[in-house]
Amino acid sequence: MEKKIAVIRGDGIGPEIVGQALKVLDAVAVKYGHRFIYEDVLMGGAAIDAYGDPLPPEMLSKCRRSDSVLLGAVGGPKWNDVPGDKRPEKGLLRLRAGLEVFSNNRPAKIWKQLANASPLKPAIVEKGIDFIIVRELTGGIYFGEHKTESVNGEQVSTDILKYSESEIARIGRIGFETAAKRRKKLCSVEKSNVLDSSRLWKKVMHKLAEEYPEVELSDMLVDNCAMQIVKDPSQFDVIVTENMFGDILSDEASMITGSIGMIPSSSLGSGTCGLYEPIHGSAPDIAGQDIANPIGTILAAAMMLRFSFDMPKEADDIENAVSKTLDLGFRTGDIMPKGENGLTLCGCSKMGEEIIKNIG
Ligand code: NAD
Repeated sequence: MEKKIAVIRGDGIGPEIVGQALKVLDAVAVKYGHRFIYEDVLMGGAAIDAYGDPLPPEMLSKCRRSDSVLLGAVGGPKWNDVPGDKRPEKGLLRLRAGLEVFSNNRPAKIWKQLANASPLKPAIVEKGIDFIIVRELTGGIYFGEHKTESVNGEQVSTDILKYSESEIARIGRIGFETAAKRRKKLCSVEKSNVLDSSRLWKKVMHKLAEEYPEVELSDMLVDNCAMQIVKDPSQFDVIVTENMFGDILSDEASMITGSIGMIPSSSLGSGTCGLYEPIHGSAPDIAGQDIANPIGTILAAAMMLRFSFDMPKEADDIENAVSKTLDLGFRTGDIMPKGENGLTLCGCSKMGEEIIKNIG
């Protein structure tokens, strides 16, 4: 099979971790006789430096013409002072909107080899952590009107949180369908005791539930959900929620699994072209040292094969190779426990090499 992949190496550790993911994809291509054609795309800080724009239209077009997009991470202190609409993160928001991806799916799963990296007590971790947060991505407060004005001699800021029934229903369906393929439990998270948009959210979810009788729907307020994720994460199978709540809860969920360097995510719309990236940022503090953990990006590439290219065996191969490499004791610094432990500390490229060896 031949697939065109738009590759955004990005800023900070982005080029290092994406480089390893591409090597892993190349190994899979050789093993299965596929051809992955990579097209480099500049976005974020790199695009600001080159074009004065975090996502020039021709770069977005390249992404839209591809079969999927693989992204490292963008941003860094160098671009902290550029105006709001030119910031690296704006490139990311525009990419998501331009690809019309409205659903961000982020697994929170504990790797057995890293169970002791979780900050939670062993008694909680032993019950298992394996859930997915389905987050609405192109609506809500991040995309509402933002303004700051002078009122009675002081600055007053407003951000609008707006959702339509159809926006809620399309992400709701992804939540129900994801749950239907898993343990069939969907938890809809909102703040319906305070927000109108959440009351509409809840109403739409319950109407949709009639179409998915096999899925058990529950409701949870976002503040309670934040507590339950650390108190008893084993209760969750799939969580579906709006943009800002999902942004915050998915970072919390990733922390309880150990390292943010291990976690991939996918963003999908109604077609098969998706955006695949690790959940972490560009980690400028460790950039250029070959010490970043490339596994989140490598697993994002595996998700791309599974969800956009219908290559489940190839995706399994990558995930199994990661697991085997961890079994063999290789660890980047972020997942290395302190003290004498018989494990091997390795850098970004060495971790990539070891994973490739286990692809077979
Ligand atoms: P970050 O995720 O980049 O880093 C947080 C901490 O985790 C740092 O100590 C970092 O060294 C560590 N870390 C992150 N990824 C790692 C990896 N793969 N291996 C080992 N350690 C890793 O978050 P931040 O410091 O808040 O943000 C840095 C920049 O990244 C900012 O400019 C921010 O806007 C941007 N950012 C980009 C994205 C994205 O592109 N999707 C997401 C989040 C943040």
